[in-house]
Amino acid sequence: MIQIDALPAFSDNYIWLLQDTANRRCAVVDPGDAAPVLEWLGEHPDWTLTDILVTHHHHDHVGGVEALKAATGAHVYGPANERIPGRDTALQDDDSVNVLGLGFQVLALPGHTLGHIAYYTAQSPTPLLFCGDTLFAAGCGRLFEGTPEQMHHSLQRLAALPAATQVYCTHEYTLSNLRFARAVEPDSEHVRQRFEEVTRLRADNRISLPSTIGLERLTNPFLRTAETSVKQKADEWKGLSNPSQATVFAALRSWKDVF
Ligand code: ZN
Ligand code: FE
Repeated sequence: MIQIDALPAFSDNYIWLLQDTANRRCAVVDPGDAAPVLEWLGEHPDWTLTDILVTHHHHDHVGGVEALKAATGAHVYGPANERIPGRDTALQDDDSVNVLGLGFQVLALPGHTLGHIAYYTAQSPTPLLFCGDTLFAAGCGRLFEGTPEQMHHSLQRLAALPAATQVYCTHEYTLSNLRFARAVEPDSEHVRQRFEEVTRLRADNRISLPSTIGLERLTNPFLRTAETSVKQKADEWKGLSNPSQATVFAALRSWKDVF
């Protein structure tokens, strides 16, 4: 049984801490800063950090990797196609890794960066997805390196995972993402409800994550490019009729960039 907690970092990052309580071993995902992890380990002296999982090369995801590896000897997993400090195992699409007794499948998700990967497991009571800056709650990452076509395809892969999959992304962007979702789907009751829920959570300074794939399918405009009303909004923004779901996605992404 794995317990998962968020260690906040910087202004809006979460470092996910996976805890194998029975064996007092833990792993972290995307430690952009070593300090919150070292602090937790200091408060839990009988625990060992055994693994570090990295989704992509951006500093707010890898900044703490080398310090944590030096302090703990943890094994570092990261994408093969990016420069990851301290990486021990380079991962490609469809590779498998065993972390804390769980088998994770690696998904290559180009778009935010070209080498971006996610970690997925169905070997826990509910499936788990650690997806970095690709899929956010009610949103998605910016296209720093990949094309809209690549990101659209990456998001469609994630949308096809089981509805119950718990989505652990790296940033607390949910409320601003839902403001955009409201603009895209002003008549959506699901978006309205989620906006109210997350507004309450954030007013209490509480975390809005994890999400689920099922909830994302209902409320994340970037997964809803097949909806006629979403296409219409994307067409209005572009001033043309989008010929494909990928171009609807591209229109939404460019709209969100200036929203
Ligand atoms: Zn990033
Ligand atoms: Fe990030």
